[in-house]
Amino acid sequence: MKYVGAHVSTAGGVENAPVNAYNIGATAFALFTKNQRQWVAKPLNEENICLFHENCEKYGYTPKQILPHDSYLINLGHPEKEGLEKSRMAFLDEMERCEQLGLELLNFHPGSHLRKTTEEKCLKTIAESLNWVLKKTKRVIAVIENTAGQGSNLGFSFYQLRSIIDQVDNKSRVGVCIDTCHAYSAGYEIKTTEGFLSVFKEFDEVVGFEYLKGMHLNDSKKEFGSRVDRHESLGEGTLGLEIFKNIMKDKRFDGIPLILETPDTNKWAEEINLLKSFS
Ligand SMILES: [Zn+2]
Ligand SMILES: [Zn+2]
Repeated sequence: MKYVGAHVSTAGGVENAPVNAYNIGATAFALFTKNQRQWVAKPLNEENICLFHENCEKYGYTPKQILPHDSYLINLGHPEKEGLEKSRMAFLDEMERCEQLGLELLNFHPGSHLRKTTEEKCLKTIAESLNWVLKKTKRVIAVIENTAGQGSNLGFSFYQLRSIIDQVDNKSRVGVCIDTCHAYSAGYEIKTTEGFLSVFKEFDEVVGFEYLKGMHLNDSKKEFGSRVDRHESLGEGTLGLEIFKNIMKDKRFDGIPLILETPDTNKWAEEINLLKSFS
């Protein structure tokens, strides 16, 4: 069973996300549980939580179909004490919000060294941040997203994802999300069927499919290996449609949220239909 959806709006409250997902024919969705561009948000209230549950039940979304995303400001690999502490506190708040909503996953961008420390040290700091936050929470799985390798962002190679996992104590509470646009921009040739098979063979060997908790399905505006993170609507970018056909036909991607983060929200319903037609 494939779960396909998009990163939907929570304007007016988190409880609106499942409604917005349903309206585009989604069987999965992603959301921000707070404003993604602010450090502090007011806590979720009982009414938000209650309505969120009600709507998820009404429209048929279980926690394994929902992939919340954390704030863009958080850097769990921050090279400086103040920035790191602020990020850890904000990430803890995000994990707690997910727990309050009964969710099981939280997708995040691993972190950046800001050219002030080594890659190795930064990966270690990210893992230490996860160990810290996992001890303070009970259930939610921290899902590391691969990046395009833009700027000093880490997590652009499978080895970096593996390195973080290796240093996390509780491996049952860490996972990964692979973004197709980021992978392609980072230099993984997934455009052709041959490339797709060999890249995901490597993924399985280095990281392991047991850690795959979600996918971001995006075409790319930029060329292969550009290390630039610019999403494009499916079939309109440099990546093309074959990769999405391959994913939809492959059982290894069953049972996890497959999420569109494509720029034209008016096309989401159409893109979801297209994906469903590939399976
Ligand atoms: Zn993504
Ligand atoms: Zn992106």
